[in-house]
Amino acid sequence: MKADAHRQWRLLDLQKLDTRLAQIAHRMANLPEAAAYQQAVAELDELDSKLVRARTQDSDVERERAKAEADVQLVRDRAARNQARLDAGTGSSKDLQALQSELASLARRQSELEEIELDVMERAETAHAIVTKLEQMRPERAEAVELAETAQAQARSALEEEAENHRRRRTDVAAGVGDDLLALYEKILASTGMGAAELRERRCEGCRLELMRADLDRFAKAPEDEILRCEECQRILVRTGESGL
Ligand SMILES: [Zn+2]
Repeated sequence: MKADAHRQWRLLDLQKLDTRLAQIAHRMANLPEAAAYQQAVAELDELDSKLVRARTQDSDVERERAKAEADVQLVRDRAARNQARLDAGTGSSKDLQALQSELASLARRQSELEEIELDVMERAETAHAIVTKLEQMRPERAEAVELAETAQAQARSALEEEAENHRRRRTDVAAGVGDDLLALYEKILASTGMGAAELRERRCEGCRLELMRADLDRFAKAPEDEILRCEECQRILVRTGESGL
């Protein structure tokens, strides 16, 4: 294939643009801002799950507390009624004795229930404190998600803008390469990620290998418009003033 030197040089510009486009695509797929956003979302989700569990625990203990309180009140009321009857002094001495004995057992029962109530109250306080603490943490976590989302969107749009810019310039540059040479370049680009490389100081800038003496001699004698290929990596080799031929 033949193409004048200017068309060949354009391949090097095209390769620079394609390399940058590939870097942008790679960066876009591995955006640190995207990972940071995912992390922030995961942390908020974790907090919300903890909050759901803590609120459930809080309301369970609260129900337990209300029941313990009612149990104690029941015994207190009964004891108060017994005490009133005892104070009134009505009824047989046998009745009064029975009331006395029930009052004693109610007092024991009351102190048992009060201990249970105290324990439940302590647990209710702890459960409530956990909910409060998690609720206080939530706004900061939610804000972190919003900030991370904004940072991600900004990073993405900056890269998209740069890519769009490069694609526009690529269209212009590609137009000056010509269809036949462009097709060859793109075929090599698709299989190796690089279609054309500069022959610089007797080295292929694609595979970085120094060319064999025999190839260098052949390339030095080749007409300017002949398309050269690296014997090692098969990329299009573009001669410039720096080729050292
Ligand atoms: Zn090479």
